[in-house]
Amino acid sequence: MLFGWKGTTHIMASANGVASLQGKRPLFSFGAIADVQYADIPDGHSFIGIPRYYRHSLLVLQRAVQKWNNHQKIKFVMNFGDIVDGHCPKDQSIDVVKEVVNEFEKFNGPVYHMIGNHCLYNLPRDKLLPLLNIPSIDGRAYYDFSPIPEYRFVVLDGYDISAIGWPQDHPNTLEALKILREKNPNTEKNSPDGLVGMDRRFLMYNGAVGKEQLEWLDGVLQDATKLKQKVVVCCHLPLDPGFTSREAILWNYDEVMDVIHCYNCVKVCLAGHDHQGGHSVDSHGIHHRVLEAALECPPGTDAFGYIDVYENRLSLVGTDQLQSTDMCFNP
Ligand SMILES: [Zn+2]
Repeated sequence: MLFGWKGTTHIMASANGVASLQGKRPLFSFGAIADVQYADIPDGHSFIGIPRYYRHSLLVLQRAVQKWNNHQKIKFVMNFGDIVDGHCPKDQSIDVVKEVVNEFEKFNGPVYHMIGNHCLYNLPRDKLLPLLNIPSIDGRAYYDFSPIPEYRFVVLDGYDISAIGWPQDHPNTLEALKILREKNPNTEKNSPDGLVGMDRRFLMYNGAVGKEQLEWLDGVLQDATKLKQKVVVCCHLPLDPGFTSREAILWNYDEVMDVIHCYNCVKVCLAGHDHQGGHSVDSHGIHHRVLEAALECPPGTDAFGYIDVYENRLSLVGTDQLQSTDMCFNP
C-alpha cells in the first residue's frame, strides 16, 4: 500500500499516541540536505523548465550549517549527494568541490557524504572520494556506521555500476554501457523518449548497485538483525517507485529492495536526486523519503532539515521547501 503526502497525515492521525510522544526526547538527531548542486554560474532551468539557482544554493548550505550548529544537539550530518553541478566549468571542479566540502566542514561534528551523478560529472572517483572523506577500497563508495548501538546507517553507492565516474575501460563502466544499450535504444542515453513505465529509469544519469555491494548489504542487514539494530538506508538514488519519478530511480531498485525485504530491520530509506522530493510507504511498511533539492529554492528560501530519531519513528523537521514528515514504524 502506498501513501503520498495525504497518506502521511493519515499515518500521523491514525498512529495512537503520536501526540503524546511529541514531548519525548529523541535518541539523537541528524542534519540532512540534498542536491546543493552549486556552481558559480548564472541561474538556469532543468530540462523541464524548473528554475535552478546555482549560486544561491551555497547560501542555503551555509544557512543549514548555521542552523545545525545553533541547534547544538545535531549529532552528525548526512549529505545526500550532488554537491556541485555538472555545468561547473571543469577547470574549476576541484576548487569548487573543495569550497562546498569546506562549507560542510563548518558543522561542529561528522559529515557523511554520498556521491551523486553531478559530483561524478566534475571529478572521477579517485579524485572525488578522498575530498568527500568517503572510506574507500578500489573506488567503492558504500559504507555503514552506527551512531548509537540501537541504530545503524547504511550508505549505498548508486553509481557502483555506472557509465560515469569510473575509467572508460573499467568493468563497471562496460557493464553499465551494456545495460544502457539493452534497455535504452536512444542515441542520447539520458533521454527516456520511447521508454515505457518503469523502463524510463534506464538513463545514463542513473546507475545500479553491483553484485558485491548487494552481498555486502545482505551481510550488514544480517548483522544488524543479530544486534537488534534498526537500519536507515541512505542512497543518492531513490529506491521506491511509490512517489518518485520513474526517470530518477536506481536501475536495480527491485534487487536492492528484495534484499532489504528479507529482513525486518530497515525502517526508513532516504534519498535525493529527484528534486521535487516525495514520501511513500512500501508493501513492507518501510518509509521512503526523497528530500527536496537545495538547488531549486528561490532566493531567500531554504530546503534542509534535521531528523529526530526515536525508538519507533523518525521525525523530519524541514525548513521552507523541505516538507516535514513523521515516519512511524513498528519498533
Ligand atoms: Zn543526482
